[in-house]
Formats: sequence, structure tokens, C-alpha cells
Amino acid sequence: MKLVSIVVPCYNEEEVLPMFYDEIIKVTDGMKVQYPELEFEFLFVNDGSKDKTLEIFRSLADRDKRVRYISFSRNFGKESGMYAGLKNSKGDFVVVMDADLQHPPSFLPEMYSYVRSGEYDCATTRRVSRKGESKIRSWFARKFYSIMNKISQTEIVDGAQDFRFMTRQMVDAILSMSEYNRFSKGIFSWVGFNVKYIEYENVERAAGSTAWSFWGLFKYSLEGIMAFSTAPLAISSLLGIISCVIAFILMIVTIIKTIAFGEAVAGYPTTICIIFLLSGLQLFCTGILGQYLSKTYLETKNRPIYIAKETDEIYRSSKKSNTEKSDEEESHTDKN
Ligand code: UDP
Ligand code: MG
Repeated sequence: MKLVSIVVPCYNEEEVLPMFYDEIIKVTDGMKVQYPELEFEFLFVNDGSKDKTLEIFRSLADRDKRVRYISFSRNFGKESGMYAGLKNSKGDFVVVMDADLQHPPSFLPEMYSYVRSGEYDCATTRRVSRKGESKIRSWFARKFYSIMNKISQTEIVDGAQDFRFMTRQMVDAILSMSEYNRFSKGIFSWVGFNVKYIEYENVERAAGSTAWSFWGLFKYSLEGIMAFSTAPLAISSLLGIISCVIAFILMIVTIIKTIAFGEAVAGYPTTICIIFLLSGLQLFCTGILGQYLSKTYLETKNRPIYIAKETDEIYRSSKKSNTEKSDEEESHTDKN
């Protein structure tokens, strides 16, 4: 038998979860008919939701013993959710997917067929259109990919998603990267392995709303650049060198002008401009340095990537002991 773990990070997904569950059961039941060797577990991660997501997990766990879950003590972000899911998954294969049905479960059989043959270690989807997304957002996204691929050794495919069907070997490789600042798109690509990209048109969220603001995405992309490239540091040194060269040329020009032509130097405006320019540049470069330093600072603190408050095991065992207790009480009252 082969176990497939389906990992789903969820943040405020009460609206879409029941739909997601029905859909995933339909697809995995179909897969079991086609591939009788498969077994499934569903590992939901509650990333500190403020709605009824956890209650839904509990009721799913009551209904279906294949449902497992981890609930965080607060919102740690999707990256932490995926990490927790991968770490606690038991499967020979692991799937990571969103709860909002933007990663259609109907792709799973095709993805499995690639991974099953042994030719590929991972099957993933790549959206070829950004339908339903604003123009500015897609423009920034495209720019991000082109810059990222220019300045980083790690190639990040445009439109690649966190919807992945992976072998245990690849999952273990991902887990071995225990960094605190996690940028999954980079991590998935950094570990290598043979990846099959399945192209598809973007699907809109089935219900609920996205947790990503434009500003949030922008910050996330800067983090991605910093996590997988040190180019900004090199650029800041380059800027320093360029401004030194310019200053040197200006000096020579001024000296020649004064000595050869006896021109008085119009000092004040130029000095002000140069002071502003250079101090701006310096602050900018120190800022870049500071960003890397702060990342290093957080890494060296070695904080946990997530903190779990409740899991299905805790829930199930507390429920069991409760029912045992009430059974005992009942038998006591019977005797009396
Ligand atoms: N998500 C999460 N923690 C967060 C934000 C999002 O676990 O802090 C989950 C969310 O529940 C969903 C997936 O990550 O399953 C993708 O989120 P969303 O649909 O908001 O992002 P988008 O599809 O717009 O990129
Ligand atoms: Mg989504």
C-alpha cells in the first residue's frame, strides 16, 4: 500500500472548507478505484484562524478517521503552515494544496501518474494565465519573476505554484532546509529533483477572500529575493564604486577648470546636491545591509517555525477519555 498525505494550510477558510472536503473525497475515492494501492490521509493545518475553521476540522475528524489536523497558537503564515504539514505528514507521497479550490483536486490523478512512473519526483501546476487578477498585480508578479531569475542562481518558474505532488524523498529534502525565513517557491526549486509542470488556466477562489494584500505580496517578494540572492548587497557595493568614480572625475574637472581657466567654482548648490545624493546612497546601502543582518539575526535566534496548540491526536484522546468517563458514570448510576 502507498499512503498519500494531502496537506492543506488554512487561514479563515470556514466558507470553503466543506466544499473542499467534498471535492477532495470525490477525487481521492476515484483515485482509489483507479489505483487500488493508494491510501489517503488529509492533514489540515489551522494557521491561527479567527473563524470556525478549527470547529470544522474537529467535525471532519469525527466523521473521517483519515482526517488529521494541527492547529497553531496564532497566525504564523502560509509558509509555516506548509512546513508543519510536511513535517507531520506520514505518506510515501505528499500533496500540498490550498483550501480555496484554486488548486483543483481534479489534477491529482494526472499528477500521480507522473510521480508513480518514477520518472518524476514532483508534479506541479503552472498557471499560464492570470485571469481574475488585476493588471498591476500581474505586471508586478511578472517583473518579480524576471528580476529574481536574473539575480538568483535558483530558477523560479513564472506561474509555478505551491500545488505539488511530491515523493517522500523530495519532502525530506525540503524539510532538511530548516531556515526560519521560508520562501517556498525558492525552496522547492533549490532542492532540485525532476519536476513535471502541468499548465492550466488560473481558477478563481471558490469562496471566502484572499489573505494577501498587495503590500503583503510586495514584502513577500522582497523577502524571496533576499532569501535566495545576495545580489542587492553586490549592487550596493557597485553603487558605492560608481559614486566614487563620479566624485573623482568631478574633482579632476574642477581642478583643471580652476588652474587652467581660472574659473571660480560655484560651490554652494553643487555641494548641497552631492551631499544629498551621497548620503542618500549611503543610507540606502546601509539599509540593504541592515535587511540581511536582520534576517541573519532572526535565523540565529533559532525560533521554532510554528507552535501547535491542538492536534487531532489531542482532540481524539480527550474525546475518548470523556466518553469513557461518562460510560463509567453511567455504569455507576446503573449499579445504584
Ligand atoms: N493561508 C494560510 N495562512 C495565511 C494566509 C493564507 O495558511 O496566513 C492559506 C489559505 O488558507 C489558503 C492558501 O494559504 O489555503 C492560499 O491563500 P490565499 O488563497 O489567500 O492566497 P492566494 O491564492 O490569493 O495566493
Ligand atoms: Mg487562493
